[in-house]
Amino acid sequence: MKRYNVGIIGATGMVGQRFITLLADHPWFNIAALAASGRSAGKTYEEALGGRWVMKTELPEKVRNMVVLDATADKEKIAGMVDCVFCAVDMPKDEIRALEEAYARMECPVFSNNSAHRFTPDVPMIIPEINPEHAQVIESQRKRLGTKRGFVSVKSNCSLQSYVPALHALKGLGITEVAACTYQAISGAGKTFERWPEMIDNVIPLIKGEEEKSEQEPMKIWGTLENGVIVPATSPVITAQCIRVPVSDGHMAAVFAKFEKKASHEEIIGMWQNFRGRPQELALPSAPKQFIHYFEEADRPQTGLDRNLEGGMAVSVGRLRDDAIFDIRFVSLSHNTLRGAAGGGVLMAELLCAEGYLD
Ligand code: NAP
Repeated sequence: MKRYNVGIIGATGMVGQRFITLLADHPWFNIAALAASGRSAGKTYEEALGGRWVMKTELPEKVRNMVVLDATADKEKIAGMVDCVFCAVDMPKDEIRALEEAYARMECPVFSNNSAHRFTPDVPMIIPEINPEHAQVIESQRKRLGTKRGFVSVKSNCSLQSYVPALHALKGLGITEVAACTYQAISGAGKTFERWPEMIDNVIPLIKGEEEKSEQEPMKIWGTLENGVIVPATSPVITAQCIRVPVSDGHMAAVFAKFEKKASHEEIIGMWQNFRGRPQELALPSAPKQFIHYFEEADRPQTGLDRNLEGGMAVSVGRLRDDAIFDIRFVSLSHNTLRGAAGGGVLMAELLCAEGYLD
């Protein structure tokens, strides 16, 4: 397998640090450039972090002394150094949209964790096990951008990363209505308890913009390809409440769902356990062997015990029961900065690389 040089834009942030840990020893990708804001530019990566490294593993030696570049001012230089970039930045949305398109127009594919392009109709929003075929819109995006190689491909929001896969495996039953309440970790806001002490012994019932994303993004993921764009699905109806809880990593969801067809618990658990996607078929380096794990124990999945399942790339499901209003209810869990952010971005890049989009 050919190796590709990659850049990380937003390398000093919470998601950027995850990218570093996942890409430092990646079999296909080699970290060749790190970028962040003008505040970090010109410093070594360690200096730019200034004590902000929050990963549980050591700062990899290969990036410690790399000089951080300015994501905007140095964009031509960066695009010339790498074959693609991973992008996770905290900037105004219009600036992110412009920055990502600028890299794409310089023939540098962008794998984005930002929300800015999630509803651009010719930008695929890919969960690799669910909608790998949406990558086909890249052809029409390239026509719009006037590129041969450059494109933007995005990851969905971390809040829906546990329940959309669990529901997708049951799509054959005809899902009509869904209610989801998410219990989201503080790393989802780029924070630790040291930097957000108000979250200790506290629950905050608002995550700005998250409920809209949780309800609308699944519609694009389940959308259809028509005339070079993705047309969002119109069903099921989803209602979501998103709550910040005092947990470092891992988003849990309590989910209720109604279907056109009935199925026994045994059949539903079988659908989860037998679900396989393109990453498993292609045996991509970051793909979990078993995407959806069902726990029979009544008190699982638990955030502390189960978030790191299969390198934090699997989805855990448990507590399947009948429901008095909906047909079923269950609980699901995924790691928000691994499967829900950087890990999902790396898996998306591996998929598009294996499908020839980086050549
Ligand atoms: P974060 O920890 O606050 O990090 C923000 C990063 O953006 C830093 O590297 C920062 O660089 C950089 N940045 C800020 N202004 C910039 C500018 N003008 N030009 C270039 N870089 C700039 O944020 P995060 O949690 O990693 O989130 C980053 C993005 O990923 C956001 O769009 C977020 O919505 C998305 N996301 C996060 C999660 C999650 O679980 N945390 C999940 C999914 C998606 P400096 O250090 O130089 O300031």
